[in-house]
Formats: sequence, structure tokens, C-alpha cells
Amino acid sequence: MTLTEVTRANPPLVPPGTLIGRELRSGKIEKPVIGYGQAALAKKGEDYFLIKPDCQRIPGNPSTWFSVFAIFDGHNGISAAIFAKENLLSNVLSAIPKDASREEWLQKLPRALVAGFVKTDIEFQQKGETSGTTVTFVVIDGWTVTVASVGDSRCILDTQGGVVSLLTVDHRLEENVEERERVTASGGEVGRLNIFGGNEVEQLVSHPFSSSSFLQPKMFEDSISIMVLGCNLLCVFQVGPLRCWPGGLCLSRSIGDTDVGEFIVPVPHVKQVKLSDTGGRLIIASDGIWDALSSDAAAKACQGLPADLAARLVVKEALRSRGLKDDTTCLVVDIIPSVHPILPPTPRKQHNVLSSLFGKISNSTGKSPNKLFAVGAVEELFEEGSAMLAERLGKDFLVDRDSGLFRCAICQVDQPANDGLSINSGPFFSPSSKPWEGPFLCANCRKKKDAMEGKRPFQPTISI
Ligand SMILES: [Zn+2]
Repeated sequence: MTLTEVTRANPPLVPPGTLIGRELRSGKIEKPVIGYGQAALAKKGEDYFLIKPDCQRIPGNPSTWFSVFAIFDGHNGISAAIFAKENLLSNVLSAIPKDASREEWLQKLPRALVAGFVKTDIEFQQKGETSGTTVTFVVIDGWTVTVASVGDSRCILDTQGGVVSLLTVDHRLEENVEERERVTASGGEVGRLNIFGGNEVEQLVSHPFSSSSFLQPKMFEDSISIMVLGCNLLCVFQVGPLRCWPGGLCLSRSIGDTDVGEFIVPVPHVKQVKLSDTGGRLIIASDGIWDALSSDAAAKACQGLPADLAARLVVKEALRSRGLKDDTTCLVVDIIPSVHPILPPTPRKQHNVLSSLFGKISNSTGKSPNKLFAVGAVEELFEEGSAMLAERLGKDFLVDRDSGLFRCAICQVDQPANDGLSINSGPFFSPSSKPWEGPFLCANCRKKKDAMEGKRPFQPTISI
């Protein structure tokens, strides 16, 4: 098996805005340089990624540049992954007022990410297709990194000082107790796949391994059950990871998945951190990497290497550890001080980078080779993972003074007040209720919110 790149990694790039927008404020560098690389191995061809290093907060003003990197790990088809790749960024940006200052923009970004994820999910479901996708969506503006994620494609941060932290939360039913409780409370069932059989019982009982530790009860206590029905012995194997039913998905959050319960929600976990001006490295990857490598192992495997080579080495390490069992995609993003960029050392054999990388250097990656980086503190600005939109969208709402129309906090469509409801309003208006406390949702988005919380079924209106 050989490593094949799906897309050749790009060299580190300095967005044009850097040259114009580089400022010194109180002696501190305003914006870092972004270097990045990407590598992938396809098994099913359902992983997609987005690299946009040169977005502009104010169109036409290059000093307002920011970068977006994302991974979309599709399942049951590719359409949800492609749709999210093409629409999510614009849906997020549409939820932030155009006249926001940079500080306001960063402050509103976590809420806009929630709105953008939900809007994208509603729009995809209107297409009537059934595939789904994880999303890990990273926005880098200066030293501030904001990560929004649904599913199990992780993003880790290596501050190059030996500290590796996880910026995402895995929405896997197997590992996330809170999500299991939420799904169950919203009307879903959580369990393993049942496989029925009769003959298998005799084989188990008479199997030479049956008296060994291979079949000790502790190993099977939650994965197998045997029922006696009349004279027939029916064996029910419960296999694989925990899934939710209907649908049988292992994930509790995703975009798409029209054919599973509405308790599979598109509301992302969002974390926003500010790096010190020594910078850091992000590794964003699909579960093909994380099922093979721990966060620390992935970070250590590529420390000291430029981002493009680092991405290839992480994929190579995952392949060596577990084989190619799933689509495997990795983005490595370096956030580097721009005045005195400290670039990692370059491999010696420039003429044969790959053989050098995978042979010689991989043997020496166990320790950090770069001692030039100081240990930088990471300031945590924001973290929220609740699936409840009332907790995620805040209490502001926009009313157009001229038209009197209210703007939906999710889809951003202006509607008359009586065509929608405040998120906090109950089913009946009472003197004690505060119907307009909280963001306004149009009728369709309100239905979606209620369906996600198990209050009623949601049938998306199919677009023509
Ligand atoms: Zn709406």
C-alpha cells in the first residue's frame, strides 16, 4: 500500500492582506502569518475539505483578512459534505452584521456559527437527500482561533511548548454520555446493532476458546444477550458502537441526515481561543486519523516540520498504525509570528523529500526538535456546546425600523412579527410570558428548533 495524495499540499502562504494589514500595536504583532498543508487517503471518497486563507471581513479591504479551514467527513453519500463545503461559510457570514468592528465580529462569530450550521442543515434537508456529514470549521483571525464542530472530526492545538489541547468535542454516542442522555430525552433510542442467529450459539458454546478469556463474561456483558424462546435457542449479538435509532447513526450531531431522527442536531460545539504571539499549530483531521493516533501522537509525529510535510507525515503515521480502514484527511495549519517568522527546520534531503520524511525523520519525531518557541499561554475566550438554541443564539433580535420586519436569527430572512415567534415564547401567550425576549425565529426555523428538542416532527419544505 502506498501513500497517494489526493491533493498536493500547498506551500506556506502569506495572504496579501498581511503586508498591508501588518500593524504593531503596543509593541505586539497584530497578525501572524498562516502556513498550511493538506494530505489525504481515500477509502470511500466521502471526505471533503475547505481551504480559504484569504477571506475578507470587509469585502475589498485586504487588511481585514481572515482564514477558514474545514473538514467534512460525509456518510451515506457525498452530497451533504459537498453542500456544507459550498454553503456553510456564506451562511455563517450572513449572520454577522456587515458594519461590525473586528472586536464585534469576533464576539458575534460563535453565535453566527450556530446559526450558519443550522441554516445549512435546513437548506440541505430541503433538497430531500439523505446523506450526512461531520463538520469541523476553523476560523483564524489574527491570534484568535474559533472552532465549530459537529461529529467526530477533531481539531487539536499544539502550542509548540509541549502542550497539546483538543478544541473540539467528539459527538460519538459511544463516548459522549451527555449526548446519549440528550438523544434519549428527545425521543431517540440508543443501542447497538442486533444480529440474530441460532447456530452461532452452539458454535460459541463448543468453541475451543469458550473457556478462555476470549469469551469471559466481562468482555461480553454489554455486547451479547441470549434469549430462550420455546425449544429454540435464539442468540442475539449486539455488535459495534452505540447508535441511535431510528437511523442507526453512531454520531449524535451532523449536518444532513434527513432520514434519521431530528435529535441528530446540527448545533455545533464552539470554542474560541486566543494564542500568545508565539503562535501554534492546528491539526484538523477526519476520524481516519484519530482512530489511529492520539492527539499527542499526531502532534509529536510532525513537530518541527513545515505544514505541508507535517500533514503528509500524520497521514502516513495513521496508515502505518491502523492501515487504510476509512477516509483519512488531515489539514495542518501553522500560525506563525510575522516579524521574525520562526520556520521549522527543513529536511536535509530536499531532492527527495518524501523518502527523507518517511524514513529518516520519522525516527526522530518523538521529541520536540524546535526549542526556539517559547511556551505560550492560550487564553480561552469562549466555549459552549449545548444543543439548545435558546442558550446558543442569545437574546438580541433585529427589527427593521422602516419596515417593522423582524429578522430570523437562523435564516436571516425578514418577516412580519406575527409570522414567527420569539425563541423563548411558549405555546400560549400569557400575561407573565415575555414573547419577545430572545431572538426571533421565522416559523420554519421555529419548527426545526422544536423538532430538534423532540417537541414535534419536522418535515422540511422541499424547494422546487
Ligand atoms: Zn428562519
